[in-house]
Parts: sequence; C-alpha cells; structure tokens
Amino acid sequence: MGRLVVVSNRVAAPGETRAGGLAVALAEALAERGSGVWFGWSGDVVPREVRGVRLIAEGTTEFVLSDLTEAEHEGYYLGFANRALWPVFHYRVDLGRFDEGEFDCYAAVNRRLARALLPILRRDDLIWVHDYHLLLFGQELRNDGWQGALGFFLHIPFPAPEVFAALPQHQRLARGLAEFDLVGFQTERDAANFRRYMADSHGAELLADGRLRAFGRTIVARAFPIGIDPDEFGRLAESDEGRDAAARVARITGDRALVIGVDRMDYSKGLPERVHAFGRLLDDNEDLRGRVNLLQIAPPSRESVDAYRDLREELDRLAGRVNGDYSDLDWTPIRYLARSYSRGVLAGLYRLARVGLVTPLRDGMNLVAKEYVAAQNPDDPGVLILSEFAGAAERMGAALLVNPHDVGATSEAIRRAIEMPREERQERWQALDREVREHDVTRWRRDFLSALDALAAGAAP
Ligand code: UDP
Repeated sequence: MGRLVVVSNRVAAPGETRAGGLAVALAEALAERGSGVWFGWSGDVVPREVRGVRLIAEGTTEFVLSDLTEAEHEGYYLGFANRALWPVFHYRVDLGRFDEGEFDCYAAVNRRLARALLPILRRDDLIWVHDYHLLLFGQELRNDGWQGALGFFLHIPFPAPEVFAALPQHQRLARGLAEFDLVGFQTERDAANFRRYMADSHGAELLADGRLRAFGRTIVARAFPIGIDPDEFGRLAESDEGRDAAARVARITGDRALVIGVDRMDYSKGLPERVHAFGRLLDDNEDLRGRVNLLQIAPPSRESVDAYRDLREELDRLAGRVNGDYSDLDWTPIRYLARSYSRGVLAGLYRLARVGLVTPLRDGMNLVAKEYVAAQNPDDPGVLILSEFAGAAERMGAALLVNPHDVGATSEAIRRAIEMPREERQERWQALDREVREHDVTRWRRDFLSALDALAAGAAP
C-alpha cells in the first residue's frame, strides 16, 4: 500500500496544539495509516527571500511545511479563502469580498504549493487534499503531470447551487474540483448540492453511486460524515484535568443548571442569536432567574478579518446587556470566555453541563456536538440542543433540533432541556451515542481512504 499524503492549509506540526476539528482528525488519520506525509503551510509568514520548505519527522509521519509570504497570506488565506469562500460556503454572500487580485493570489498559491509537493511524491502515493483553501490544488498537480489518485474532502458546507454560483470564479473552482477522483462532503445535503450544481451549471451527467461525468472526467461525489474518537472523549471527561475543570466551575454554579457553548468566534456559529435566546429565556421565565448559567467558550479566530472584530464587539455588548439586566449579588447569568481550552478541560465541562447548546447558523459538521454526547454520564446524561443547519443534525435527530434564527424556539428548547426527565434524557442520549460511535473518526478515515484506494486501483494501468 502506498503512503498517505495529506495536504491541508494548516499543518499541526509536532509540538503544536491541535485545536480544531481538522487538525485533530488528520493527526489521528496519519498515525493510524502508518507511513505518511502531511504537507501544507507552516503557519509562518516570512519575507519572500527566506520563504522555504521545512521537513520534520515524527514517528512514521513526515511533516513538510511551506511558509507563506505576507502577500500570499493576505491574498490567499485572509483574502480569497476567508473573505470570499468561507462566507459564501456558509451562505453569507453579503459578507463576501470578491477581489480578482485575491483570487489570482489564491490560484498562484495553490500552484506554488502543488509544485513544492510534486518532487517528493512517489507514484503509488495516495493524495488526500483538504478543505476550501485548496480547491485548485488537484488541478495544479495534474497540470504538472500527476496521474495518480487524488481525493478531496470539504470540511465546510457546500452551499445550494444558486449560492455557490454567486462566486465570480465558481466555474474555475468547479473545473478544478473535477480533477479530483473522489470529492467527499460532510453530509448528503452537501453532496446533493454539489451534484445539482454540476448538473445545472456544467451539464454533468449524474450516474449511480455518487459518480458523475463532467468536463470529460468521471468523478465520485459522496458524503463521508466526519466524527470523533468517542472513547477518548469519555476518558477525558473523567480524567484529572476534566474533573478539576468541572469542579472549578461547579464551585461557582452550585446546583444551578449549566448550559455550555463551545465555538470558535465566527459569524457562522450563531453566537449573538444564542445570547439573545438565553436572554429571552430569562425574560420569559422568572422562575429560572438565579437557577441557570450559560458558560460560553469562544476562542477568537482570524481576528484580523473585520467581520470577526465586529462580532467580538457585538458579543461583548449583548452578554453585557443580559448580565446587566439579571445579575444578582451571587449570580452572573452569562460567563463568556474569549479564550481556548484544552480538550480535557472541555470534556470535563461538557460532562458537568446539563445542556449542550450547539446552534450554528451553518456548519459543515460541528464536532462539539459529538464531543458533548461522548462526554456524558450514561446514567444522568445532559441534553444536546442542535441547530438544524449543522451538518451533524443530518444524523443526530435525537437531539432537540432548533432553527437558531428562531430566538423564541431556541429559548423554549433550553427550558425544555433543563426540565427534561431523566428517562427521556437517557433515551435521546442513547440514540445520539449510537450515532457518534457508528460514525466515528476511524470510520470516516477508513471509508474515505478505501473509496479512494478503490478508485486508484481501478485507474491503475
Ligand atoms: N476546541 C478546543 N478548545 C477550545 C474550543 C474548541 O480544543 O477552546 C476544539 C473542539 O473540542 C472541537 C474543535 O475545536 O474539536 C471545533 O470543531 P468544530 O467542528 O466544532 O468547529 P470548527 O472550529 O472546526 O468550525
């Protein structure tokens, strides 16, 4: 079996903290496959004269890290990837900034990175490219002669065709995606959106088993829902670190119901709507005042992008409003922590919390929802409230599903979760736990790679 070559924008190199769904899942995928390479951006932004490629070995994985220049970081990463692709793929065309220069830079970085990888590739390597930063990477490899198998997985949603088509460069991007042999999505809905887009805009012929024919190539577009390692999260929840964190919070919350939210500070996560819903809960339910706490962990992300700074300010203001209205001498309703915590700490807090509040306006999957489930005590589990617009909702219907734009319904769901009898909590949790275990990170990796291996075998001369 050939090596696995993972390509992603950010590489979580040895010694770095691996926060974020992608980093964690990929480190696990590489370690379990045996021999492999993880290629991508080093995270360093350097002057052009000193831009280089670094190699670090850890176990059986080789990390190959390329720096970005200031101009590349601005145009490719902060620019086209995060100011055009991220908002549009999350249905926020209104926030999209469509700058041709930034697109050119995005394409150029995809080309430069592909050319940096090519010399270290072996003929039987299996290449697995990740996420929206690298939509053109496969095409660039092909342009330079790569004929082996190419897989791509999109971690964020693939929007409805009409929304995707709002991107001025949608045709270029679609053409690039068609150079992969396998294009994986988080949900059936995403895969269906992509297939419909390819049919509507490019006359693709839709075949059985996720195959489609477009631009003279046959590719496979299917859903591979990403997951977590549930046993690990269960263990973390009961580790010293998890218990200590839970004990520290429990000292403050006492016997009040704890509602927890954990999200990167991003406009796709529905944080203002969530604070509104919690405020509404207190507005409408006098009996809950003094009896419930919202703990929101929201580590800042990509702060140099204006939209994120605005969000931070809005959130400060909204949480301040609710706390100003309702705090008492011994009770502050919302504790909002704009910093990140280790997974051990999070697991302990998930287990302590009576309610997991996961209400993104749009999310590829949302691993926090799965982690919350995995960390529960089976004898006395908490209740997951889940946005119907998170990819996770496609298979986690036993959660309390809400439309996060509906502040009243979300507030009502929180009340219902707090009051839910143990029997119903257990029933719902058991169904959720089954799903989290069935679609764990191992299955994700195995399903994707075996589909790609099969295509590679079929394509071999
Ligand atoms: N996370 C973390 N520390 C934090 C906040 C989040 O380790 O302070 C992790 C969290 O446990 C989860 C990931 O970051 O594994 C977030 O993944 P998710 O799919 O929920 O959202 P994303 O950030 O990828 O959009």
